[in-house]
Amino acid sequence: MSHGFETRAIHAGQAPDPRTGAVIPPLYLTSTYAQEAVAQPRLGYEYSRSANPTRDALQECLAALEGGVRGLAFASGMAAEDTLVRAVCAPGDHVVIPDDAYGGTYRLFAKVLQRWGLDWSVAPVSDPDAVRAALTPRTKLVWVETPTNPLLGIADLGALASLAHHHDALLVVDNTFASPYLQQPIAHGADVVVHSTTKYLGGHSDVVGGALVVRDAGLADEIAYHQNAMGGVGGPFDAWLTLRGVKTLGVRMDRHCDNAERIVEFLLQHPAVAEVRYPGLPEHPGHKVAAGQMRRFGGMISFRTAGGEPAAVAVCDRAELFLLAESLGGVESLIEHPGRMTHASAANSPLEVPGDLVRLSVGIETATDLIADLEQALRTE
Ligand SMILES: *Cc1c(COP(=O)(O)O)cnc(C)c1O
Repeated sequence: MSHGFETRAIHAGQAPDPRTGAVIPPLYLTSTYAQEAVAQPRLGYEYSRSANPTRDALQECLAALEGGVRGLAFASGMAAEDTLVRAVCAPGDHVVIPDDAYGGTYRLFAKVLQRWGLDWSVAPVSDPDAVRAALTPRTKLVWVETPTNPLLGIADLGALASLAHHHDALLVVDNTFASPYLQQPIAHGADVVVHSTTKYLGGHSDVVGGALVVRDAGLADEIAYHQNAMGGVGGPFDAWLTLRGVKTLGVRMDRHCDNAERIVEFLLQHPAVAEVRYPGLPEHPGHKVAAGQMRRFGGMISFRTAGGEPAAVAVCDRAELFLLAESLGGVESLIEHPGRMTHASAANSPLEVPGDLVRLSVGIETATDLIADLEQALRTE
């Protein structure tokens, strides 16, 4: 019997401990495991870089939430990304990445993997024709975020999956912004789902982690081999904290979405706001596609200020309840200036973001308090 999402979030990979009945998976803070006899590990556990029961619980749960055959947990989203690319590509291969990719993803390709000999180009992932035009005979990966960060563009997962597969490339979807509660890319044809579990999956801004969820068992084995060989695994306590967060993902996401919808309404009527970007808005160019592949439209909002970059910076500085901080997806609301903060590494590149842009990660506080804070932050003296 296949269970619903919230049931899987609470139970998948998390059966009571067979020895004690503990309801929560034990935190196995151990690097190594005593063996029964020479080269005879109990239950397959030898060394915690290779496998750890707490990490296994998280991995199993993430695979169940995304509908993949296997989940792999890493020390960070970036470690997951690096391991994936090196497992699947060789020097000389080519990848297509979004023209408004997460700044760290852009930096990984432009500054690290390029030195390794990987070729890459950028394309607007909301335009399948532009992605097709960017493909080369050596393209191994089509890398997509949807919604994108920080401009909240929408990619059509089904269209990009057929396009990638037609060219013998894999479709990789960074599902950090939506979380598996709102969108499950494997059901739309994606081969690998990437997460920064630091964000919505962990949900409490207390742990950094990453994950991959894979559609195909052979590919999963290949990546798991690299995970062990490269060593970017997450620690057991990180896995335990992340799993604790995952249990409430559904209820948190619904409140993130409720609050975001209220704030979008408020921003739309505010004279100091020039433009609001939110995929839930019918006038958003990706709204129809988003509605076809997302349950709701998420807790991230970007907006442009009427007063240009100085006004955008001032709003960020004045906000009080919205904490001025990078990252996203936690229960507390955050505000940031992408041009000078999260996306500063993309300055003077094709991925540079507008200076008048403000990004909100809407938390689950009382909506009227959040709106009052934005009201005072947007005041024009
Ligand atoms: C934060 C983030 C990452 C990187 O994850 P870390 O856990 O910070 O290494 C990748 N993609 C997106 C969309 C992110 O928001």
